[in-house]
This record gives sequence, structure tokens and C-alpha cells, in this order.
Amino acid sequence: MSEAKRYELFIDGAWRSGGKGDIPVINPATEQVFASVGSASTKDLDDALAAAERSRNAWAARPARERGALLVAAARILAARVDEAAKALSAEQGKTLAEAAGEYRRALEMLEWNGAHAEELCASIPMGSGRTLVPEPLGVVTAFTPWNYPAVLNARKLGAALAAGCTVILKGAEETPSAGVFIVQALHEAGIPAGVVNLVFGVPAVISEHLLRSPIIKVLSFTGSTAVGKHLARLAADNLQRCVLELGGHCPVIVCEDADLEAAATAISEYKFECAGQSCNAPSRILVAQPVYQQFLSRLVDVAKSIKVGPPDAPGTEMGPMANSRRIEALQRLTKDAVGRGARIEAGGSRLDQAGFYWPPTILTGVPSESDILREEPFGPILTIAPFDTLDDAVAEANDTEYGLASYFFTSSDETKRLLAGNLAAGAVSINFLKGVAADAPHSGVKQSGYGYEGGEDGMRSFQNLKLVNGLAALER
Ligand code: NAD
Repeated sequence: MSEAKRYELFIDGAWRSGGKGDIPVINPATEQVFASVGSASTKDLDDALAAAERSRNAWAARPARERGALLVAAARILAARVDEAAKALSAEQGKTLAEAAGEYRRALEMLEWNGAHAEELCASIPMGSGRTLVPEPLGVVTAFTPWNYPAVLNARKLGAALAAGCTVILKGAEETPSAGVFIVQALHEAGIPAGVVNLVFGVPAVISEHLLRSPIIKVLSFTGSTAVGKHLARLAADNLQRCVLELGGHCPVIVCEDADLEAAATAISEYKFECAGQSCNAPSRILVAQPVYQQFLSRLVDVAKSIKVGPPDAPGTEMGPMANSRRIEALQRLTKDAVGRGARIEAGGSRLDQAGFYWPPTILTGVPSESDILREEPFGPILTIAPFDTLDDAVAEANDTEYGLASYFFTSSDETKRLLAGNLAAGAVSINFLKGVAADAPHSGVKQSGYGYEGGEDGMRSFQNLKLVNGLAALER
């Protein structure tokens, strides 16, 4: 039998076992432990804080184009390992091998985009009237990433913070540790100096509390649930650490009568069932114009039922298992609640009777408005579908959630495009397609979906102070 893989922490330029023993890593397709990851002690965290603080000035003083070149070099190193890294990610997370490889390609884009734009976005900005804005790195960043898209999210946070000239302590998700390890190893091999990037794992609440209590930390970047994001923002308030919070979503799709229904059904199912629906941007509430409701519902039900669910590394699998048993419990609870209130199950609806955390694509109709699934982010392969009479009704329904991350709609009318783009309350609105985050565009939620930007120019600015210098027309650095 091959030896179980063991992932370690990376602190001050060296890999080490965590001082708190090991945490098991479970394969969600089998429910078996197949790897482990080290858990940080207080000393490990203090060492990471000291290393990030010590290396901060030299990293900030390094020309931005050199920092950018290191990110691009790391992306090249990682690119040569995508197959191996995707295999590890798929086994930990449950997403298919194709999805995992696709995620790594997007992670490479995050590193490359930030690397390529470091010089430009760290250059001083003439303001006119003899004034200049000087972007300065804010200092030591702590970043927390979840288990659903660990490669993209690690690369996005590390890429922007490092390019901006900050040093970083990244806490990766313990359930999916390999992505952080592959990316940090590539940065290390590319030549990033000791202490500039540190990777820890362990007990999330202990690590976040310890790091945010330290005045060394100047920025918190977190992706995860709204409840945890609020808790971390409260901790960060004591030291006034700047927060970037990318939290939950409960994203609506409005399908208008004049939409290309076939294209809409395909786009919705492809994006919804990617990563088994465990994406903050995945659509979860579909609103369909009454005249085409039945036709659209039956098309979507057919598509959902045709999706091949199975082991993520088996040929032909289109959707793997849920990442962990918590998601299965949540989906069971949400489905039971909705059905108990009168909802109908049109597809799926219960856990598959086999080993592994398998839940099939599920469609619910007739879901009463007070149901938990219309309030709570489902974070799984469940869609609710309901008809609407007027566009005003659809907008009101779409916006009737505490979340505001992404909204989508399908129409062929320019007038409807303008109306809905203006009236949907979300950080991003997409027309006639559904897509995840891009390296060059800002991404942020409104309402309870968070604040602060990730991605693009604004994403790098999240890690900078724009110092206003009055009396200097330009500043060369
Ligand atoms: P959770 O809220 O316990 O954890 C979410 C993430 O936050 C995990 O990666 C976890 O390690 C981390 N975390 C938890 N407590 C923390 C703490 N005190 N300090 C620092 N990090 C902490 O929930 P979960 O069961 O892992 O995931 C389920 C829910 O999380 C979903 O319903 C969804 O709302 C949300 N989620 C959102 C995203 C996203 O991309 N926005 C990603 C993953 C999970």
C-alpha cells in the first residue's frame, strides 16, 4: 500500500510539521482518510508573524516589476505540475479531474495577471495641481481560503497581495490542503524570499483569533461563510485591520419569455452543477416567465436528470460528490424543510445510497417563500424554480434575499437588459451567460455577501494605501 500523503506548513522559507499534530484529510468519494495535514501551534503562528514582519520592508522595497516577475515565474513552475496538482485537488475536494485542471488554469491566470500588472499598479499616479498618489503596501496580510475553489482563491489572494508588496500568512482549508502547498512551493522555487509567504493549517478559529489579535497583521482577506466573515470582521475591528470579505451568495437567474431557452438551460446547468454546486456564485433560484415556465422546467429537469454523478476520476463523470458530510446534512435539512412546507421534488432530492458524499442534481418547485432554502445559501446542487408574471415581480423576488453577490438573466431585449442590469442588487450582473470570477475584473458582494474587492486593479488596491503627496507632481520609485 502506498504511504499516505502528508502536507506540511511553510514558515520562514522552510517546510515544517505543525506543532499540534496532524489533521486527517478525507476523500469525499470514498469517505476514507487518505492524507493528512499539519496543524499549527501558537509557536508556529508566532514564527510566521515574526517572519512576515521581518521580511516586510525588503519585499516592499523590491521593485514591483521584480515582484511581478517572481509571480509569473511561479506560474510557469506550477503550469508544469497542473496534472499532478489537479489529481490531488480532485481527490480531496470531489470535483472532477477536468474541473480541477480547469480551476488550476484559472489559478495560473490569477498569478500571471497580478504579476504582469504589478509595475503599473504600484507606480505613482499624478493627480494634477502638483499632487501625486503613491501606492504603498499595507504590510502583513492574513488570508483565509475555503475548500471549494482552493487553487483559484489561494492564487488570487497571494497574487494581488504579493504583487502589491505585502507579505502574507495564508491559512489554507484543512480539507483541501494540496492547492496551497503546490502554489507556495512554486513561489518558493521561483525564488520568493524567506518569510514573504507563509502557509499554515490547523484549527481555523484558533488561528484567526491568534493572527488577528496581533498588531503585526494589517489586512484580513477572507472567503467563506457570512457568519464566519462577520466574526472575523469583529476581531479585526480591535486593530482596525482592513478587511476584504468575500462571503456567501444566493444567486437568482431570471429567464424572460423572449430568452433563448435552450441556451439558458444549458448555461444554468453547466455552471450550477460545476463543483457540485458548491460555489458562492452558483445560481440557486431560477425565476421563469409564466408563459414559458412549464417548457423551461421540463427542459431543465431533463438536463439535471441526465448528469452523470460518480467518482471524480472515473471517465464520463460530470459531477462528483459533495466535499464533506456537512454539505450532505445541510442539503438533507433544506430539502426536508421545503418538502415539509409543500414543495415538490422534480429531480434528485436525496443522498445516493452508496459510499461517498453523493447528492444528485436536485430541482424543487412550489417552494413556499418562508422555506429555509430560499433564505439560506444552499451551497450544493439544488435549484428552486418558480414562475413570475411581470418583470417587476421577478426583480422583487430576485432581490428578496440578504445576499447580493451575483445575479443573472436571459433575454433578447435591449430594453430588458438595461432595466434588469440596473435593478438587480448584486456585486455582478451577467446577461445571457453565467461565469465565475476573472483575473482582470473586480469582484465584490453587496448586502451580506461582503465588502472589499478581489480581482483586477481594485483587488490589488485592497492591499495598498494610496498615499496623497501634496506638492510633488510625480514620484519615481
Ligand atoms: P464554515 O463557515 O465553517 O467555513 C467556511 C470556511 O471558513 C472554511 O474554509 C473554514 O475553514 C473557514 N473558517 C471557519 N471558521 C473560521 C474561523 N473562526 N476563522 C477562520 N476561518 C474559519 O462552513 P463550511 O461548512 O466549511 O462551509 C459551508 C458554508 O460556508 C456554506 O454554506 C457557504 O455559505 C460558505 N462557504 C462560502 C464560500 C465562498 O466561496 N464564499 C466557500 C466555502 C464555504
